[in-house]
Amino acid sequence: MDALRPTSITANRQTRELTISWGDGHQSVYSFALLRHACPCAECRGGHDYMRSDPDPEVFAMPDEDTPATRLVNLQEGGSYALSPEWEDGHHFGIYTWSYLRLLCPCESCRFANGTAGDLT
Ligand SMILES: [Zn+2]
Ligand SMILES: [Zn+2]
Repeated sequence: MDALRPTSITANRQTRELTISWGDGHQSVYSFALLRHACPCAECRGGHDYMRSDPDPEVFAMPDEDTPATRLVNLQEGGSYALSPEWEDGHHFGIYTWSYLRLLCPCESCRFANGTAGDLT
């Protein structure tokens, strides 16, 4: 599954974007706000019963806001299989696996492929 391994990960605090280049050549650009809204931890998801392996489609419609909750202060690689960001409000429980991040890619072709592209009319 080398396609699902990042070849580079860049967090830009000026543009508030995280860029991941994948083994298959795809590039994903996530706003920090999107990442935070999609935090996969049990607390953000409303309990373990709501944990899923794919992002909630709602996160793509959420506003791109600049608050302590969406300011990245630290980014750690969790074991080589995931990223674990720390946010300015102290939240750091989210473990974003590569497969989750790939499903979270907000580019048009991924949204279309994953069936969460907005209205296509
Ligand atoms: Zn969380
Ligand atoms: Zn994509």
